[in-house]
Amino acid sequence: MKLSKSLKVGLIMAICAYIPVNASAWGMLGHRIVGQVAESYLSSKSRKAIKNILGEESLAMSANWADFIKSDSSYNYLSSWHYVNLPENLDRQGVISFLEKEKQPNVYNKIQEMISILKKKESNADEKKMALRMLVHMVGDLHQPMHTARKEDLGGNKVYVSWFGGRSNLHKVWDEGLVDYQQLSYTEYATAINHPTKAQLKAWRSISLAENVFESYQLVDKIYAKTHADDKLSYRYNFDFVDHLNEQLLKGGVRLANIINEIYG
Ligand SMILES: [Zn+2]
Repeated sequence: MKLSKSLKVGLIMAICAYIPVNASAWGMLGHRIVGQVAESYLSSKSRKAIKNILGEESLAMSANWADFIKSDSSYNYLSSWHYVNLPENLDRQGVISFLEKEKQPNVYNKIQEMISILKKKESNADEKKMALRMLVHMVGDLHQPMHTARKEDLGGNKVYVSWFGGRSNLHKVWDEGLVDYQQLSYTEYATAINHPTKAQLKAWRSISLAENVFESYQLVDKIYAKTHADDKLSYRYNFDFVDHLNEQLLKGGVRLANIINEIYG
């Protein structure tokens, strides 16, 4: 069957429009911003240890590896490590109990596993490299609120919305739409937001990983309250959520450095 060029283009566009979006992480920028912020809070011991593991690769540049490997099916087992889906209406203790009971691989239990691989003297160079790259990525994901959201809509992937007129979904808006909209490189972005107060630093560093999940989970409630299927999101949505977005990225970086500093002293 011969198709005219315009018909072919039209068909391809139609097919692309209906492929379910399988976004599952901050986009490239979000992860790099978290890595870049973290660099500024590392102890000298941590810097040395990271250099031994990653060589010249910065935390920012190591942060996307976990997404790049999705192209290789031998890494499919890692796909659930990027998020944890939770039931609705849990309180703090409910979230903590859920996380303690949940045995399926998720962002919460795998962050802990990566920390123990990095702490173990017997881990070899390859194991440490993978663990550090995954840790950098997953601490970022933990701060993308739609990664601690609802199972029923796959963390907002099934909440279809438009973003500045283009087809999108709630998960994707938080992965990429809002971050990209700021029109900053990852280094510019990190510089622009990296001004926490002493009180913020103290508070952010003092909470447990489970409380960290609960905090993201609470932000999810605010997001669901303001975002519904078929919403046309644009300027106003940015206005409503840009401060939350920036705080999540900053917190992610501060906490990543904190976790790494606790590993290496
Ligand atoms: Zn991810």
